[in-house]
Amino acid sequence: MTASSPGPAVLGELRSRLEDQQLQLLDGVRERLLESEQVRERISERELQGMEDSATLAAMAEVSLADASRDIEQIRDIDTALIRMRHGIYGICCDCGEPVPEERLRAYPTAKRCRDCQEIKEFRQRTQSG
Ligand SMILES: [Zn+2]
Repeated sequence: MTASSPGPAVLGELRSRLEDQQLQLLDGVRERLLESEQVRERISERELQGMEDSATLAAMAEVSLADASRDIEQIRDIDTALIRMRHGIYGICCDCGEPVPEERLRAYPTAKRCRDCQEIKEFRQRTQSG
């Protein structure tokens, strides 16, 4: 039995899941940016008052920004998946051109590669960086 690209029903289901997830991530990013902005305001207030313990607050602002940028990366991955759906190439491995199994797409709807190619890519990244 050979794997095939997901059918329209599966595609529709995955698309609405991705769209929902994207909206949630956008809300989260908005919240975190706001948080980081509020923390920065508190830092400048403290500095105006001559208080010097703003390092913890600065670290908090950094964490919010780091969370936001991680979410933005996920939003970008989802965007890529949605664009691939529109072009009819979603669920096709971008390295070997073979269909990505539906089971893998359900687990990782933003997957661009089949498991083999993903493993090869991760192996290359590990050996290049190390
Ligand atoms: Zn592949």
